[in-house]
Amino acid sequence: MIDRSKARHRRSREAGRWSGGVIPYGFRPVKAADGKGLVLEQHPEEARAVREAADRILCGASWGAVTRWLNSAEGHPPRKAKAWSTTTVRKILTGGPQAGYLVKTVNGKKRPVVDANGDVVRVPAILTPDESATIRAMVDEAAELRLQGRGRSFSGHLTGGRRSNRWLSGVATCASCGRLLAFSQTHNGGRGMYFCRHNADGGCPQPPYVASARLDAHVEAEFLRMFGDQPEYVKRREVSGAAEIAAAEEAVTAAIGALSEAATPEAFKALQDAQARREAAVNAPRVMHERVIETGRTMREVWESTRENPEARQDLLRANFAAIIVRRSAPDNHGSKAWDPRRVVMVANAPVVVGHTEHIYRHGAVVVDPELEHAA
Ligand SMILES: [Zn+2]
Repeated sequence: MIDRSKARHRRSREAGRWSGGVIPYGFRPVKAADGKGLVLEQHPEEARAVREAADRILCGASWGAVTRWLNSAEGHPPRKAKAWSTTTVRKILTGGPQAGYLVKTVNGKKRPVVDANGDVVRVPAILTPDESATIRAMVDEAAELRLQGRGRSFSGHLTGGRRSNRWLSGVATCASCGRLLAFSQTHNGGRGMYFCRHNADGGCPQPPYVASARLDAHVEAEFLRMFGDQPEYVKRREVSGAAEIAAAEEAVTAAIGALSEAATPEAFKALQDAQARREAAVNAPRVMHERVIETGRTMREVWESTRENPEARQDLLRANFAAIIVRRSAPDNHGSKAWDPRRVVMVANAPVVVGHTEHIYRHGAVVVDPELEHAA
């Protein structure tokens, strides 16, 4: 027996209409064009946030970095919670609605909503099927790495999730003990200082101290000297064929849905076709590959754009330097804590050659001229 509300629910789904419930993030209900009922359309600000968060993930940003961005003034707040968490961000970016279809939970499993014809009910997708499939593959890959007990990201390990408004804390390390430098505003006569928290008893024989303005200025000048005039590149991850698997799985679900509504020979045929399509898609070779894209900005512009955003600046430094190490004193000046640029060692990441071009690419960010590198 189907009661009235259930029938109404069903009819509205059949027409691709919104039948109530929780509105998925990135969407809002509006009156249907024909004036009958509601349909979902993209919520401009929320959809833009989803779109840009996905772009950042696809270009190699960490979930932590994207979550911080969403929580910043540039991002967009969640509906009810005070702030985004990496879990909720992951949920949104791998969600069905953002990829263009509604889901409902059946026996604890999320299933696409289908209409009486077995067709998946569509909403205006924010992400393309390939983007959505790539992000899911990345989440699966990360989960697998966690299971294997490795794959903690370098940056995640370094910062331990701590926030800092001084961009070199969380990046620069102590030459003596290898641990991250801390920042204190009250030291150095209130002008701020980076220092190692540890002493000889704590495993650090030569803890460095440096005025924050000195170290900030030096690292900035070095970064701009090495990379400033280079174009910015980003890496974008893609999975070939992943979208087809996702689409075929949807088709199978849809066919099963249709079959449960009416067990006609056509419905059986549709299910067989969908299963064959899924098998072909699963057996097709699948490759996760990275594309390097020029953004049109110089690294100097990128650097300037992070002036008010210490976390983005930290990400930029981590993408381009394996380490920024601070010594207590200059090599030939033992004991003196006076400022000397030789106290700072900046280890640039090794350039990586990608594809058959004349350029040499650097992980995550920038093209490097090897001549310049040797001169440094
Ligand atoms: Zn130390």
